[in-house]
Amino acid sequence: MKATFVARALSHAVAAYACVRTAFTVPLSSRRWLAAVFALGACPAAWADDVLFENVRIFDGKGATSLSAPSNVLVKGNVIARISTDPVEAEGAQRIAGNGRTLMPGLIDAHWHAMLARSTPAESFGDVGFSNLVAGDEATDTLMRGFTTVRDVGGPVFGLKRAIDTGIVEGPRIYPSGAMLTVTSGHGDFRQMTELPRVIGGPFARMEQVGGAIVVDSPDEVRLRVREQLMQGAALIKVTAGGGVSSPHSPLDVTTFTEPELRAAVEIADNWGTYVAAHAFTSHAIRIAIAAGVKCIEHGFLMDEETAKLIADKGIWLSLQPLPELLRQGFAKGSVERAKADEVWPGIGRSYELAKKYKIKTAWGTDVLFSRALAQQQGAILASLKRWYTPAEALSMATGTNAQLLALSGPRNPYPGKLGVVEEGALADLLLVDGNPLENLDLVADADSNFKIIMKDGVIYKNTLAK
Ligand SMILES: [Zn+2]
Repeated sequence: MKATFVARALSHAVAAYACVRTAFTVPLSSRRWLAAVFALGACPAAWADDVLFENVRIFDGKGATSLSAPSNVLVKGNVIARISTDPVEAEGAQRIAGNGRTLMPGLIDAHWHAMLARSTPAESFGDVGFSNLVAGDEATDTLMRGFTTVRDVGGPVFGLKRAIDTGIVEGPRIYPSGAMLTVTSGHGDFRQMTELPRVIGGPFARMEQVGGAIVVDSPDEVRLRVREQLMQGAALIKVTAGGGVSSPHSPLDVTTFTEPELRAAVEIADNWGTYVAAHAFTSHAIRIAIAAGVKCIEHGFLMDEETAKLIADKGIWLSLQPLPELLRQGFAKGSVERAKADEVWPGIGRSYELAKKYKIKTAWGTDVLFSRALAQQQGAILASLKRWYTPAEALSMATGTNAQLLALSGPRNPYPGKLGVVEEGALADLLLVDGNPLENLDLVADADSNFKIIMKDGVIYKNTLAK
């Protein structure tokens, strides 16, 4: 865990010191100098903390329907260097006896809100220090559930991402959108009526100050706020093109952004080599977003068949979530939010049926909000895909397929390299699983018991095989 990271850094420092000392303490004859240069050249390989997984059966994340023959997988640095059914040369590597367990890619949640998953709305937009610490703790839990990457579609997540990437906090890779863009009264406008009217150029609402969501009501405002997210390191841009369940002032039937406003967001994102993802439930909101050049639709739960066909024909991504019943029941009976949830929930199953029927490029995510108990269900929500998919299909979606969506960030991809697959040259985000998840998808619901090793970027964060 933390100790692994520190130990790795320490061992590298010691190896580096040893190499430099060897090189500079030899007498200065030309022959000795030559030897010293060779010694230095050999050093980087000695510094790398290689790991050899022996006797594992691989799920490759690329749609394989069965596990590989018993294999050996060598991780060098942060990359999968070698995969072979023959013995693999790996002098000095840490050896892990897989004993026939499953080695699979780390899981990817394509619709996550790292800053909002556990905190309540009041906490999220209240004390920034507190909400960041809560989010840090949740990020560690997320990684410990086997999720090595999340696509963060709304929230003030840049600081958390930096803390994770620099080794201060343990957590997943984060593909951030930064603040989600909403129009006045749109999904994501969490202001109170008492905060109206808004003066353009006037003071910011609290949710805007902290960077959770920001109100834009013209193409000019869109351009400004999109550029601000990109300046902070956004990998994608998130807009809310129609009404949503959890926001107080956005009826489900309403299309919020106009096409020129969405087009402005797409133009700026495109100039930066990345894309716009749009929250949209209804066919109308989805069609306007697609016409404006949006590349990924989030949810789409109220779409009709023609719109599903359009999504497929245009090669647009559909980011679906099998939202749990627990979430629906979490909205107070008699509330506006509960009424909206009751309308949306039957659409979840229908959307999955349509996605399958038209072979839509489908990403999987959870969209957990404001609940630690629900966040702990992240793996169970993945396992619930068995309603519509085989375990192999579900796991491919949460690994290799989701990674293809992440790659849409192009030059804004914060982690260049291949994710979501077990293949030579890919980044080493790996899970060693007790049992065969292709036979029992429920294994992913209990990471505590079943994920024996969790590796991200070549670093082992959990290892319950170690004595
Ligand atoms: Zn969401």
